[in-house]
Amino acid sequence: MERCCMICDYIFDLDAGAPFGKRPKGWVCPLCSADRDNFKKV
Ligand SMILES: [Zn+2]
Repeated sequence: MERCCMICDYIFDLDAGAPFGKRPKGWVCPLCSADRDNFKKV
C-alpha cells in the first residue's frame, strides 16, 4: 500500500523503508514538510 501526500503528491513507497505506520510521530513529508495527517492512501 502506498501513501500519497495531498499537498505535493509525494508518494511514500513501502520500498523506501519501514511501513508508513512505523514512521516516528514527528515524521513529515520530505518534500513539503506536511505532517503525516496530510498523507492519504492510494
Ligand atoms: Zn508533501
